[in-house]
Amino acid sequence: MHEHFFHCPHCFQEISMLLDPSVSRQEYIEDCEVCCNPIELSVEFEEGELVYFEANSIEQ
Ligand SMILES: [Zn+2]
Repeated sequence: MHEHFFHCPHCFQEISMLLDPSVSRQEYIEDCEVCCNPIELSVEFEEGELVYFEANSIEQ
């Protein structure tokens, strides 16, 4: 697994997510470990390297 650090779009704390490099393109929703708000993640891997990462807040 690939650990990626970024800032939560809701609470702006630095958090990390474990990403699966075996799937080249992923879009899913994960809750922030600090504020528990949902974050929409868009992730792209190329030959096991993270080439794209985006974290968007989801309005509730
Ligand atoms: Zn947060």
